[in-house]
Amino acid sequence: RPVFIILTAVIAVGIIIVVSISVVQNKRISQKYKYGIVLDAGSSHTSVFIYEWPAEKENNTGMVRQTHTCNVKGKGISSYSANPEGAGMSLQECMEEAKQKIPVRRHLETPVYLGATAGMRLLKMEDEDASEKVLASVGRSLQKYPFSFQGARIILGQEEGAFGWITVNYLSDNLRTATGTLGALDLGGASTQITFVPKQEIESQDNAIDFRLYGNDYHLYTHSFLCFGKDQVLRLSLAEKFHSMIDSTLLRDPCFHTGYNLSKKYVDVFDTPCIKEKSASPKDFFHVGEGVWVECQNSVRKVFNKSHCGYSTCSFDGVFQPSVEGKFGAFSAFFFVMDFLNLTSGTLHEAKLKMKRYCATPWKEIVQRYPSIKEKYLSEYCFSGTYILTLLEDGYKFTSNNWKDIQFIKKIGDSDAGWTLGYMLNLTNMIPAEAPDIPLMAHG
Ligand code: AMP
Repeated sequence: RPVFIILTAVIAVGIIIVVSISVVQNKRISQKYKYGIVLDAGSSHTSVFIYEWPAEKENNTGMVRQTHTCNVKGKGISSYSANPEGAGMSLQECMEEAKQKIPVRRHLETPVYLGATAGMRLLKMEDEDASEKVLASVGRSLQKYPFSFQGARIILGQEEGAFGWITVNYLSDNLRTATGTLGALDLGGASTQITFVPKQEIESQDNAIDFRLYGNDYHLYTHSFLCFGKDQVLRLSLAEKFHSMIDSTLLRDPCFHTGYNLSKKYVDVFDTPCIKEKSASPKDFFHVGEGVWVECQNSVRKVFNKSHCGYSTCSFDGVFQPSVEGKFGAFSAFFFVMDFLNLTSGTLHEAKLKMKRYCATPWKEIVQRYPSIKEKYLSEYCFSGTYILTLLEDGYKFTSNNWKDIQFIKKIGDSDAGWTLGYMLNLTNMIPAEAPDIPLMAHG
């Protein structure tokens, strides 16, 4: 008899589990979902993000999630300045994929936005005509799809910072209740953004943005440093080293590993509007690693100009910055680099010790240890990690006391941290200014 009772109980539990799984699945299938597509046209690459949300709950925060991403093959759209048509064509594969992922009956109403960031801001400074041609080309390409194309534009640095902040706070569900927010730190190839709610007054209007979200007012500090993305800073730092070279064909670099020795082109360093002073140098040079972290950090410090500040406090380059406040999410290349270097946890002091050891490891050993990682990325982690620590400590003034307040993150839940989700939520009016008259429990 006991055996019979146990058996019956096990079968009953099994049936309950199967039935509830199918109820949940059926509910999902019968749910009406809406979709949105945002293309992040960054300096080094373009990513396509597909978002999804239940149709009847679009004004409830926490409802939108990322369901798919596609990385466009090849470089960023700004690299197509000499062949603008190629920029539009490069998007085709990922847009075809989007057609497959989004139900056909939703295609016509699905908005598509393309936002280009610092790579295109730089191209516009260098050659406005070329940047317009590239934008026109990606616009034409996106119009060929059955979605609702809403425009391709270069977004402002302030938008990039503010929408990154909205994204991380939306995903962390900080906006429905006024319990505190997460600052946002974003690092790209050509620019970097810092955005947070400061305690101090914002002394420069360029750095202030106001939002009213869910009945709460937010007075944000934000700044985007053009040319301070990690690829541009590497060039700035190489250019700085060129100035003190004795043999103009040999660039000794403490930020690269010993045994690293590669012939590079002078134009590949200097061909950027971020470098004004183009000294006469040879066509090619040997980039030779020395692997000395302390010297590397000294050289990186030289790219931060601290000589002038017209406000009560500045970060660098004469830019006003109140003292950092509260917890921060650091994403994009902040995460890629710190994750690779195993520096996403631990103290600032430990991070420096690890960097010292990592930079001193011979190149041969690094290549053997990480055979599956692209050599270009691999060769630059010593430099990039050093830049990140220096930017956060000397630039933004984080200290060993509040280092733990920086969380290095890639995703929150299913969705990537970055400006794209906040941009779409804003343009589709999905975050209302006032809290809806629904009891909080009903938000699910
Ligand atoms: P952007 O294209 O402007 O968004 O910049 C992205 C930056 O992240 C560029 O500097 C890329 O080289 C860099 N990046 C992307 N993936 C990785 C990775 N796995 N490791 C290191 N850097 C990366």
